[in-house]
Amino acid sequence: MPPSETPLHDGPQGVEGQPLIVFDQVVKRFGDLTVLDHLDFQVDPGERVTLIGPSGSGKTTILRLLMTLEKVTEGHIWVDGEPFSHMSRGSALVPASESYLRAKRKRVGMVFQQFNLFPNMTVRQNITEAPIHVLGTPKDEANERAGELLDLVGLGEKIDAHPTQLSGGQQQRVAIARALAMQPEILLLDEVTSALDPELVAGVLDVLREIAETTDITMLCVTHEMGFARDVSHRVLMFDHGRIAEAGPPDQIFGDPQEERTKSFLRSVL
Ligand code: ADP
Repeated sequence: MPPSETPLHDGPQGVEGQPLIVFDQVVKRFGDLTVLDHLDFQVDPGERVTLIGPSGSGKTTILRLLMTLEKVTEGHIWVDGEPFSHMSRGSALVPASESYLRAKRKRVGMVFQQFNLFPNMTVRQNITEAPIHVLGTPKDEANERAGELLDLVGLGEKIDAHPTQLSGGQQQRVAIARALAMQPEILLLDEVTSALDPELVAGVLDVLREIAETTDITMLCVTHEMGFARDVSHRVLMFDHGRIAEAGPPDQIFGDPQEERTKSFLRSVL
């Protein structure tokens, strides 16, 4: 695949030596259900982190908080040293307003399990819609960039197709290109191959491997593809009941897990 000519995001991410993402004692409750329980973790600029753990352990909720689709119940999220879940008012932090969240959301791209492409738009329109209307990118520039990104995901010839004319794997690759078109600093991947027929999974994972190898975009990935997690991540976080049960480099988590919960989870998926 040809390399993209335009960098995937603007300028260097984060500040050297400082974490890009900080979860500080984050609690998320839905009614009586505590989904994230005083969660602390940090992600460095350019780091690729995979979240694993049983269903219901809170992994997707973490991504949704970073996509501003959910709000924290308690605690704070910081991105690049700035409040993300909250905003400053004088010396106090208050819950973020909608316009504050909208501005923050631009830094983050997410790819979902269900590709969520706009069915009535062509592939090109799916990719250029947000850059043109949210970032104010000139149409010619957005179109050129869409072409480059489609080459990156191996679908250059599908630019004028409609989503219904594409396989699930191709639609997911378009969804990846669409997320990257916003030049996010942080890419969130939520079980992006779970809805695909098995023979289409490898093509999508290959595209993500390519992006991981050729860019320094920060990635948070929820996946059941343990081989992919092992290849691509710098660090794996094992979740259980809204807390981190174990964290470490993939060789350690997959090769020599210490916690019984990690061992039993891995036995159930490998
Ligand atoms: P995971 O990604 O690890 O499977 P999730 O973060 O999706 O876990 O969900 C954690 C828990 O939160 C689950 O029990 C789920 O049912 C619950 N949950 C998630 N979103 C909502 C919501 N909008 N309302 C109520 N409960 C929710």
